Amino acid sequence: MSHIAFIGLGNMGGPMAENLLKNGHKVWVFDLVPEAVKTLVDAGAKEASSAIEAVQHAEVVISMLPAAPHVKALYLGDEGIIAAAKENALMIDSSTIDATTAKIIGEAVETSGRRFVDAPVSGGTAGAKAGTLTFIMGGTEDAVAAAKPVLKAMGKNIFHAGGIGAGQVAKICNNMLLAVLMTGTSEALQMAIDNGLDPKVMSDIMLNSSGCNWTLQKYNPCPNVMEGVPSSNDYQGGFMVKLMNKDLNLAMETAAKSVSATPMAAVAQSLYRQHERNDNAERDFSSIFSLFQQ
Ligand code: NAD
Repeated sequence: MSHIAFIGLGNMGGPMAENLLKNGHKVWVFDLVPEAVKTLVDAGAKEASSAIEAVQHAEVVISMLPAAPHVKALYLGDEGIIAAAKENALMIDSSTIDATTAKIIGEAVETSGRRFVDAPVSGGTAGAKAGTLTFIMGGTEDAVAAAKPVLKAMGKNIFHAGGIGAGQVAKICNNMLLAVLMTGTSEALQMAIDNGLDPKVMSDIMLNSSGCNWTLQKYNPCPNVMEGVPSSNDYQGGFMVKLMNKDLNLAMETAAKSVSATPMAAVAQSLYRQHERNDNAERDFSSIFSLFQQ
């Protein structure tokens, strides 16, 4: 059992923190949204009045925030948490951010004598709830070994991609592919509908043919084909369009630095930008399907 501080209790962080509690860990929680904190306190967590208060109690600190500016402010801002954490603390950032920021934060944490791991996740809100997330870590062997037993309470597959920042590079390659798969699956399903086919039957056909992919298996974008996914709940919850656009921006920045050709991602990015402008920023990313319906 570890003493853990969990900061950022949104669509992902909330259920992840609940799984830590279910596995017997003692968890101090902090979020800017009081209702998010209350849900966790009702599940047995200890409420902290600030991020600094949360980390003072903890051997392990986990952050799960929207984007790089939030993570940078949490660790390196005026009220930064590094100095407030225990001297031997392990600090894990599971947010999806750029590798450069992860390296800057990691260096500051390690210079202070504490350990840092970037551990972005894959598996969506369903994976967060079920405790079956994939964690993709960047960090030293020592820090990664220390993080594994804690991450096991929230995930099924745990990978070590390389040094600090490598977890973020791997995660962004994966999400770039996810954006391409979600847009491609949406256009295929809509073309089937336009030609008189039932999207449920079409989904079954593709699931058992060469077009099979994760979006069809776990996250069908067409309403009422699959139960318990955002498309069957008016695209509420899940992974917001604005966060997918953040990831596509990160992917394109990474590609520019490494002079990698990413034409498929460029098209997906353009479609997701248009979709966000059509008032869909807060909807789940599978709502890109509606762009093809129009
Ligand atoms: P979210 O917006 O639902 O949750 C973020 C939470 O952080 C919110 O509750 C917000 O109030 C809180 N927060 C923001 N600034 C804070 C601060 N300074 N101190 C304390 N709390 C603060 O986002 P999410 O969907 O949970 O995603 C979190 C991260 O995980 C993002 O980086 C996202 O890209 C990544 N991610 C999301 C999914 C998904 O399916 N939702 C999947 C994989 C990875």
